[in-house]
Amino acid sequence: MEEIISLKNITYSYFGKIPALKNINLSVNKGEIFSIIGHNGSGKSTLLSIINALIHPDSGEVLFKGKAITENSLRDKNFAIQLRQSMGFIFQNPDIQLFCPTVFDELMFAPLQLNIPYEAAVQRVEETLSYLSIGHLKERPPYMLSGGEKKRVAIASVLTMNPEILLVDEPLSGLDPKTQTFFIELLIELNRAGKTIIFTTHHLDLIDHLQPTVAVLSEGHTIRKTGSATEILSDEEFLISVNLIHEHIHKHGEEVHKHNHLHYVFHKH
Ligand code: ADP
Ligand code: MG
Repeated sequence: MEEIISLKNITYSYFGKIPALKNINLSVNKGEIFSIIGHNGSGKSTLLSIINALIHPDSGEVLFKGKAITENSLRDKNFAIQLRQSMGFIFQNPDIQLFCPTVFDELMFAPLQLNIPYEAAVQRVEETLSYLSIGHLKERPPYMLSGGEKKRVAIASVLTMNPEILLVDEPLSGLDPKTQTFFIELLIELNRAGKTIIFTTHHLDLIDHLQPTVAVLSEGHTIRKTGSATEILSDEEFLISVNLIHEHIHKHGEEVHKHNHLHYVFHKH
């Protein structure tokens, strides 16, 4: 198996004082579907930003196909371009991602950056619009889109770049159930097509559905455990200890029942 991303002993804090990640080690293989799970504030989004070289760690090393990503190595234009073309980041909040006057321009941006000839770029954009069922939004400015539409456009703008690795921060966040299902099916399809997918979530039902390799971040911003989806989901005590499932106390008449709820089994409380 070919290792595509590897993190060695990464530590990061914001402004040198707000700890976000501590001694993180992980390794992602080409074609793998890999998830980073943990409760709010554990460091998931920061970890994706580090992988995408949007921020650089205080210490430790990030390797992309065996080569260290550093401010220095990114000065090598070829390496920087290869890295940028290989990774597509789908942010949790699509507002951060969309900056062009129209949806069409948004989707054209990456292919034109990649120096794809105009006609071929248009064809790629048209195919993507139709694949994501957003052709009717083509001439709209991003601010005239609903949340779910914005998300589809953000996904489309990453797909027209055709990256080898997709980084997806909280794929389900802020989406209606139909768009959630659509997005999950899309991730499965893209993974089958050979894309490496690294995503974050605190929804255990998504882990159950996608069966990724899982790294669990704790409150202390360290990785508490890495394993298969089955291994992680079957350890209820551990999931309680990292705040991914919680204990409920239910009152039935005079009796008090105390039992654990798995979010992915019991949606409704
Ligand atoms: P998660 O995505 O798991 O919710 P984050 O990576 O966003 O966690 O945050 C990890 C820690 O870093 C948290 O304590 C958070 O408050 C802090 N943090 C995140 N982004 C910033 C930022 N831009 N400035 C300062 N602190 C931040
Ligand atoms: Mg986050």
